Amino acid sequence: MKNISKPEDLKSYIREIPDFPKKGINFKDITTLFANPKAFSYMIDMLGSRYIGESLDFVVCVEARGFIIGSALAYKLGCGVILVRKPGKLPCDCNSNSYDLEYGSATLEIHKDALKENDRIIIADDVLATGGTALATAQLISELKAEVVETAFLAELAFLNGREKLKPYGVFSLISY
Ligand code: AMP
Repeated sequence: MKNISKPEDLKSYIREIPDFPKKGINFKDITTLFANPKAFSYMIDMLGSRYIGESLDFVVCVEARGFIIGSALAYKLGCGVILVRKPGKLPCDCNSNSYDLEYGSATLEIHKDALKENDRIIIADDVLATGGTALATAQLISELKAEVVETAFLAELAFLNGREKLKPYGVFSLISY
């Protein structure tokens, strides 16, 4: 493990698992980065430094790894955390949004009263792949008339072009593959 002096150095803390969960996917296992205190705090500090002074109201994050990054980031920025979850997990009235995955589809939900008009938020997640998850989340937020200031990721898989899908919202990532 290397010293960490720039975001690129975080790559040495991410374990790559070929053909997981299925053939052809090179899975970025970020549990090894989460487990290292220096790498974890560097990641949060670097993401946080982009948004300090932005007067954000909330960090919105998607289960499950997004919750870990999103909550630490919200603590750093002094704002609240809003959870976007898979169907049936949130107990009150929800808006939901379904989107296509490589095979099949997925649905995400947010409490209808989680955000109000003009709330300023960022969406945080671990990996930007095709961008479907973040786009579905951004649409849920727009429906509640809150403002997506940007979408923020530890890593993006640039060859999947998720950044293009999220163009209306903006993308920031610390590292790119
Ligand atoms: P997507 O909606 O395609 O951008 O996929 C985003 C979600 O899938 C993220 O929450 C990631 O955690 C996960 N994901 C997709 N591809 C990978 C990968 N190669 N390695 C790790 N996580 C991935």
